[in-house]
Amino acid sequence: MKIYISADIEGIAGVVDWKETEKAEADYKPYSAQMTREVKAACKGAINAGAKEIWVKDAHGPGRNIDIDELPKMVRLIRAWSEHPFSMMQELDASFDAALMIGYHSGAGTDGNPLAHTFSSEKIAYLKVNDQLADEFLINTYTAGLAGVPVVFVSGDETLCESVVNFNSSIKAVATKKGISNSVISIHPDEATARIKAAVQEALDEPNRKLCKVNLPSGFKIEINYINHAQAYRASFYPGVKQLNPNTVLFETDDYFEALRMFSFLL
Ligand SMILES: [Zn+2]
Repeated sequence: MKIYISADIEGIAGVVDWKETEKAEADYKPYSAQMTREVKAACKGAINAGAKEIWVKDAHGPGRNIDIDELPKMVRLIRAWSEHPFSMMQELDASFDAALMIGYHSGAGTDGNPLAHTFSSEKIAYLKVNDQLADEFLINTYTAGLAGVPVVFVSGDETLCESVVNFNSSIKAVATKKGISNSVISIHPDEATARIKAAVQEALDEPNRKLCKVNLPSGFKIEINYINHAQAYRASFYPGVKQLNPNTVLFETDDYFEALRMFSFLL
């Protein structure tokens, strides 16, 4: 079994402030260490389930957060950014049996995480796909669908986990914390790793992987609301994009790769 792990930091146990997510800050170290520990727990669960190959995408900020020395030897770690439109799912293809997401977080326009955002917290007020608020889980799960890979496990804040289970109740979700306004109520970091390891092992069960197959919608109507109207004006020149109002643009396509190509230029 070959497993793909996409890892972010804003949904890692305890993380509550941007300073804890930025390499240059004194507060960063314990939280990047916990990000590594949660990825390691997912690897252990996957190995218990029979994984022989595990690829990890370090998908936060500069993509240089995870300490590979702490991970099992079989791991291939994708660090930094190639700028391929698959972005947080770089190198994913049909050779993988399942994808897992660690440290994911609530999207822009929701209140489930003090750090709720979708791709760019500085640029994007919200992103909608087919009239529903979209988070990075949804965007990246559709990418997995395009590659023909089921997403079977997600960990992150409680509100994100609710959106995951609403999308497909067969996906196993582990909540590491609950966001309340600018605060979080976190479980213990060791409890987070224990729950992740156990749930990943369960999620990779073959019948469950089948239930997690991603069905892509037949069309994608994508609305991007920018914090700054000048960004919407700029975006309006991308082929196929229409400006709906000063801050919002619309892009429609049947081909999800075209949506990802658009995101890589406009987000
Ligand atoms: Zn992040």
